[in-house]
Amino acid sequence: MSNVMAELEDLHLKHDLLGSIEVGIAVVDRDFNIEIWNQFMESHSGMSPARVRGKPLFEMFPEIDAEWFRRKTDPVFKLKSPAFIIWEQRPHLFKFEAYRPITSATELMYQNITIFPLTSLNGEVNQICIVVYDVTDEAISKQRFEAANKQLEKISRIDGLTGLFNRRYWEEMCDAEFKRAMRTGRLATMMILDIDHFKKVNDTYGHPAGDKTIKMLAKIIAKAIRETDIAGRYGGEEFTIILPDTEVASAKIVAERIRKLAEHLPVDYEGQTIEFTVSIGLAEFHSSFGEYMAWIEKADQGLYEAKESGRNRVIISQ
Ligand code: GH3
Ligand code: MG
Ligand code: MG
Repeated sequence: MSNVMAELEDLHLKHDLLGSIEVGIAVVDRDFNIEIWNQFMESHSGMSPARVRGKPLFEMFPEIDAEWFRRKTDPVFKLKSPAFIIWEQRPHLFKFEAYRPITSATELMYQNITIFPLTSLNGEVNQICIVVYDVTDEAISKQRFEAANKQLEKISRIDGLTGLFNRRYWEEMCDAEFKRAMRTGRLATMMILDIDHFKKVNDTYGHPAGDKTIKMLAKIIAKAIRETDIAGRYGGEEFTIILPDTEVASAKIVAERIRKLAEHLPVDYEGQTIEFTVSIGLAEFHSSFGEYMAWIEKADQGLYEAKESGRNRVIISQ
């Protein structure tokens, strides 16, 4: 085979290889002029090799931050070491559309990028090769997975009926708040609420009406407290609230507001009017409690006294 023929064969082979490969390959020189542009790059950019060859990369693809890319590729030229860019750092280098037949929404292709030096015979690096991997499927499934996890985490913290924290999560927060108060010596007050004669509500109007009453009380609580307060559904119709940085006298004002709102906002259920009241116990944090359960129990004593002394009242446990 003549030399010319051998070279042609070689060229043909390279062309086929570059064409069929499922990754993008672009070679640029020191001035970032494009020298090689494979089939993948052509089909995703819509620009043929003839169109881009010899043209500056940053002019053809203004979405690339030139300054950043120069910095990124500097060690590739100077130290002959490869560089990597993963989609978590930057979703893409080239703004290509992703062909996703499943979703109708057009999305951009997520890319992992490898940049490696092409060393010439004299040992100099005058060109670098940019390899573009389409990782859209991987990126989207990872994002979906993370979103689902977040959702699950949220569900595991929230009580389905009221939207307040569930008991398990609330207790975690309570423990953390207790330790914080121990450490910093800052004030905090615990509040416990329980609906009065709730069995009667269920018996008279039915369980769904009872549920609506519980929901209504949760709404009243959510409105009355501050964003930094921590409210949870402790049991059936029993709620616990931690008011950080709040002395018991201020907490009593909040408690009275909740008590009065409950008393004066009847629940409308299928044409029936359900009136209800709540009893509330309060306890200020004290470093002698030892552990958070003692703090809850202290507030619960206040609640017990409120029930004993006639209900529909707020009692501070001393
Ligand atoms: P007290 O004034 O002493 O608190 O009387 P009470 O009838 O409210 O007594 P208690 O707090 O012990 O009763 C709670 C009742 O709440 C018992 C239970 O049937 C009902 N309950 C608990 N969870 C739910 C719920 O999710 N929905 C409804 N509708 N009822 C519930
Ligand atoms: Mg009750
Ligand atoms: Mg109860």
